[in-house]
Amino acid sequence: MAAVTTTFPSHARAVIVGGGIVGCSVAWHLARAGWKDVVLLERKRLTSGSTWHAAGLVGQLRTNANVTQLLKHSVELYERLEAETGQASGWKRNGGLRLACNADRLIEIRRQATTARSFGLEMHLLSAAEAKDLWPLMDASDLVGAAFLPTDGQANPSDITQALAKGARQQGARIVEDCAVTGFRIENGRIAGVLTDQGEIACEAVALCAGLWSKALGRLAGVRVPLQPVQHQYMITEPIDGVRPDLPTLRDPDRLIYFKEEVGGLVMGGYEPDPKPWADDGIPEGFHFTLLDPDWDHFEQLMCQALARVPALESAGVKQLINGPESFTADGNFILGEAPEVRGFYVGCGFNAFGIASAGGAGRALAEWIAAGEPPMDLWPVDIRRFGLPHGDDGWVQARTLELYGKHYTIAWPAEEHDSGRPLRRSPLYQRLKEAGAVFGEKLGWERANWFARPGRDEPGDVYGFGRPSWFEAVGEEHRACRERVALFDASSFAKFLLVGQRAEAALSWICAGDVARPPGRVVYTQMLNANGGIECDLTVTRLAADAYYIVTGTGFATHDFAWILRHLPERADARLLDVTSAFAVLPVMGPLARDLLARVTPDDVSNAGFPFGAWREIHIAGAPVRALRVTYVGELGYELHVPVEFALAVYEALLAAGQALGLAHAGYRAIESLRLEKGYRAWGADIGPDYTPLEAGLGFAVKLGTSQPFLGREALERQRTTGLNKRLVCFTVDDPEVVLLGRETIYWNGAPVGWLSSGGYGYTVGRAIGYGYLRHGAGVDQDWRGSGGYELEVATARVAATLHLEPLYDPSAGRVRR
Ligand SMILES: Cc1cc2nc3c(=O)[nH]c(=O)nc-3n(C[C@H](O)[C@H](O)[C@H](O)COP(=O)(O)OP(=O)(O)OC[C@H]3O[C@@H](n4cnc5c(N)ncnc54)[C@H](O)[C@@H]3O)c2cc1C
Repeated sequence: MAAVTTTFPSHARAVIVGGGIVGCSVAWHLARAGWKDVVLLERKRLTSGSTWHAAGLVGQLRTNANVTQLLKHSVELYERLEAETGQASGWKRNGGLRLACNADRLIEIRRQATTARSFGLEMHLLSAAEAKDLWPLMDASDLVGAAFLPTDGQANPSDITQALAKGARQQGARIVEDCAVTGFRIENGRIAGVLTDQGEIACEAVALCAGLWSKALGRLAGVRVPLQPVQHQYMITEPIDGVRPDLPTLRDPDRLIYFKEEVGGLVMGGYEPDPKPWADDGIPEGFHFTLLDPDWDHFEQLMCQALARVPALESAGVKQLINGPESFTADGNFILGEAPEVRGFYVGCGFNAFGIASAGGAGRALAEWIAAGEPPMDLWPVDIRRFGLPHGDDGWVQARTLELYGKHYTIAWPAEEHDSGRPLRRSPLYQRLKEAGAVFGEKLGWERANWFARPGRDEPGDVYGFGRPSWFEAVGEEHRACRERVALFDASSFAKFLLVGQRAEAALSWICAGDVARPPGRVVYTQMLNANGGIECDLTVTRLAADAYYIVTGTGFATHDFAWILRHLPERADARLLDVTSAFAVLPVMGPLARDLLARVTPDDVSNAGFPFGAWREIHIAGAPVRALRVTYVGELGYELHVPVEFALAVYEALLAAGQALGLAHAGYRAIESLRLEKGYRAWGADIGPDYTPLEAGLGFAVKLGTSQPFLGREALERQRTTGLNKRLVCFTVDDPEVVLLGRETIYWNGAPVGWLSSGGYGYTVGRAIGYGYLRHGAGVDQDWRGSGGYELEVATARVAATLHLEPLYDPSAGRVRR
């Protein structure tokens, strides 16, 4: 029934925009958390967007532990929803089967099975014959193996949504259908109200869960929601002999297709390599409970694959070919969280055809985010702050999204790069590095040299695989050049901010866990913590002047870190934050001969006494004023040269010319990864993040607990110091040269699983595979406990012996860095 305008609410604590499965899940979770004053607005009827026509497969395993937890929560919720609300949900825990038709795919599913074990999800490897027993209708002759997740299942998306809506109403939330949101009122950068075709609702928080419509609605608030509608098709057959209700869902990635049982027939869909975008000119008016025209020509490629897998389809009657639009994103992950542009404006959309599987957990996480004003756990892979400048361009987003859609079922190779929308952001050195053999990767639109092909020895391009990669030897040479001589990197993509103002020191001292109240001339490596002591940012802070700091952080964290700093500056602080990323190229020169190199190109004092570790100086190279920071991420004597962009080429040429006599080599990001693993430097987003404190991460040395200065997160760290740790980041090596560590491998302590690797790679100096990961143990992880274990790692379901290291593998006293 349509809402009655006279009772239209004028105020709500939270307004949810969109009555699909995600919006209803947010309403349910907010209401259950005691938020009574919640209004959900749906422009037409509940489910009328993408939800009503979803196929309803519910898988859980993702490559990130916390995102997998969200999907596990969906399953737990769907299992009890009917009992709690009295509304049928169509949930069926029939398990999920995944097929492998070649050796690489088998390795991939073995690695996935280990990931599942790390994340506490059951996943069993099966032989082809066992898979056929579970799914007798299929032709299994080309299978080399399979995997089965017994807790996966399928659901009826509309029924689940109605059950969530009913439960939300029972708990006091209000749902208004036939009410379209037309805009937002924003005051002082904060949401103040939602405008609708029935009037305004003043509110403290908004959750934009409007599916395909979210991009356009976000724009009305100045919020960037980079999603792309894409056509997605599946076929429904008439009943087929032998299709039982308990048939597991089936994913056949080598054939790009999936199946599920539906009323005795099959649903079959897939991910074609040449997807079709939709609604380039905007979503048509009146698009609700609407499908697109079936496109049999386009579907034929999937149909051919399906016929080969399930020959019974040949004679099956086809009920319908569903063609529905769905929002996809440029990295295949959904979009969650508070928008960096507007306080109190939360987003939950872009579900990449796993919105039914995600909604239970994503709705809960967003509700908790709204209630607390911060995420309930580290959700970086889906966090809206992961986007950057390229995501503001519709053309770029479309190109990358279509590429990722086409790769939905292709093997996810280690270190895989994507091709679309490139090159976009290029450092001034780009062309020169290319001529020097650079093989580029891409991050937030930036072209970054991953490695350098050696003339006559390497093809300049990545050849992917699960074993030793094609670039292995070349990266080894770059690594050794840095350890033994001097290497030149291009880190121009680093995000760089200026914080200026009379109160800059006081403001930054509150946000930073490290002591940044240092005199001009100093560089401080520091973390910024949340109230729980979790690491939100990991960066360097350079004191330029009494009232000016220069902050440098990783390429991918530009939006996140900027937003974090801005939002945590004390109120009325006289301190302004500016993004100066585009103003400076960054040329790190690293290695034992780095000082010799600089001495050849600058008249300024670069001696250890005159320019010690942890300092910065303005030096002059080839006529350029260069901000040189004596810091390192590779564990060698080195300098980060921050150069105004127009001087970058001149500085580069001078370094190259002077470096010839010293054996200067170009080096790229893959060498950096190997070097930093050996030295034990942490990577945010992998080894450290909001779920881990500096004490757990072994970064206590960078925290000013020894001073009396207050800082955000201090109390949590003090508590933790008293109670002790129950997780701790440690390092492992594996002697077996055949073992490749990539991250997510399970850690065993005396035979019991106690964690998983957050990073993995190869150390060329130590000559072994290296992995970092947290040991987790409720009763504590003190040195005695850690030392009492025999350790193994599970790699692609096989256990291998591992050695625990409590000190950095390379130069533990840091003598090389400080000399
Ligand atoms: C063919 C197909 C098959 C799929 N199969 C699966 C599957 O097997 N498993 C799976 O997990 N996922 C699947 N999906 C994905 C799934 O359907 C979506 O991810 C999910 O439904 C998204 O839910 P939502 O709530 O975000 O969006 P929607 O369901 O689109 O809801 C958004 C709502 O916002 C409303 N709205 C828009 N503008 C306004 C406004 N101005 N004011 C008020 N309300 C507004 C809309 O009317 C709509 O009801 C499939 C999708 C498609 C297209």
